[in-house]
Amino acid sequence: MGAGAAVRTRADPYRAAFRRVTRYVVTQLLAGNDYVVRGLEMYYVLNLSPSDVATVLRVPVGRVRGWLQRVHDAGLGAAVAARVAPAVLMRVRGARLTPLLVPVPDGGGMLRCRVCGASVPPSKAAAHVVNKHRDIVMRYVDALLPLLSP
Ligand SMILES: [Zn+2]
Repeated sequence: MGAGAAVRTRADPYRAAFRRVTRYVVTQLLAGNDYVVRGLEMYYVLNLSPSDVATVLRVPVGRVRGWLQRVHDAGLGAAVAARVAPAVLMRVRGARLTPLLVPVPDGGGMLRCRVCGASVPPSKAAAHVVNKHRDIVMRYVDALLPLLSP
């Protein structure tokens, strides 16, 4: 997936990293995983350690490290990711995306997709967004990317 974009942007690692990190952050916000993005902001913008982020968000530190690994991978390495992530996070926050998945009242923690009506457990929210609504993700990424070019 995204093979065409990867080929087109290979010559410019920062542009490719912007695109991929933006896609990850947009996906998390559309999935309703605001806490993941807050965790990334704590690490990349406020310079908290992964264990401090884990303490604040009350999640296992391994999960925080997992998010960071995804951003590192998307950023084509930790160094590029660290340079790209703060700008991406600020821009994506500024876009004030409305989550596609919202909690169902009295739904026992289940989420409902505002686009297709599916009932989705929180653990599958990001996968639902990526697999079912990739077009929406990419529309946001394409809209945000020109703003992000270094
Ligand atoms: Zn859906």
